[in-house]
Amino acid sequence: MAELSDRMRALVQPHLAGIEPYDPSFTPCRINLSANENTYPLPASVRASVDAALAATPLNRYPDPLSGELRCELAARHGLAPENVCVGNGGDELLFNFLLAFGGEGRRVLNCPPCFSEYEFFASLTRTGVRNVRRDRRTFELDERAMLAAAPHTNLAILTSPNNPTGNPVSASFVAQLCRACPGPVMVDEAYIEFADEGVSVERLLGSCPNLVILRTLSKAFGAAGIRCGYVLAAPDVIEVFAAIRQIYSVNVLTQAAALALVRARAELASAVAQVRAERARLLAALEADERLEVWPSQGNFLLVRMDEASRIRERLRDERSILVRDFSYASGLEGCLRITVGTPEENDELLAALTALLDEEG
Ligand SMILES: *Cc1c(COP(=O)(O)O)cnc(C)c1O
Repeated sequence: MAELSDRMRALVQPHLAGIEPYDPSFTPCRINLSANENTYPLPASVRASVDAALAATPLNRYPDPLSGELRCELAARHGLAPENVCVGNGGDELLFNFLLAFGGEGRRVLNCPPCFSEYEFFASLTRTGVRNVRRDRRTFELDERAMLAAAPHTNLAILTSPNNPTGNPVSASFVAQLCRACPGPVMVDEAYIEFADEGVSVERLLGSCPNLVILRTLSKAFGAAGIRCGYVLAAPDVIEVFAAIRQIYSVNVLTQAAALALVRARAELASAVAQVRAERARLLAALEADERLEVWPSQGNFLLVRMDEASRIRERLRDERSILVRDFSYASGLEGCLRITVGTPEENDELLAALTALLDEEG
């Protein structure tokens, strides 16, 4: 495993000494099903309105710090006021700022692995302690009783719905209980919510849970991971904190213009989401039919699949078939697991054929 040079280990803040240098190895592949992006091309009409918005954007002025127009459009989308919304440079910036504001030394975040690894990474950067309540080993369902027992002794909580990489949704009634049990803010990361069944979002709890924070992104269902745009929904006093600590120009003018065009065109993006949901069902059925695989139902645009020799299969998919999927087999509780993003019908067909052929060969 890579590590910092001795010289840098001595110079960085002590809590960062064990950090790993970023590994820039990035394998361009013909079919990339590794990062849960939306692999369906934007409808041409939507792409044209994004291009027109970008072309009309002056570059000489600093951006509007709070993304005023976009903020209003997002608020309208959710039936909320602009004061309930803060836009960020991707959901990741908002996650980091959440820990920066409400975590820190001597405090603890409630976390439920296996989940998004960035939570623990940002906790370590901000010196926030982590209280892990692990999910069920077989079903990856939350241990709700243990979470409610731990919550009063934590300062903030994060849970993901649908969970990445396991696909489980969280029930709204449990989120409401957790919000009562946790003395600090509770973030529900809904990065994949558009792919979930109707009613899974906990948006409707915002009125009754003043410490609830909902994270959304344009990186997944909106097919715009490249523009880096996410946002949080919360009570106005929580939003004031996010607005106060952010780097004021983190959301650039091109991102604001593209995001506004995409959010306005959201109705035209619905058919790609419906196709992903249909393909997810087809892929799930095909993978379930292979007795060499264990696969979990998912409310996201990805499926978690367990098999023998997972790392080797993943390498061979990449090197021999130019198909990239994500390896989780090293992660605690996810031994033997790969995460496959649901792609277009053609991509999914290729993935299924390649996976079956490699399993035959390895068998
Ligand atoms: C992708 C993702 C995000 C947000 O990603 P951004 O591209 O930074 O908006 C947040 N949470 C989870 C669980 C994700 O998978």
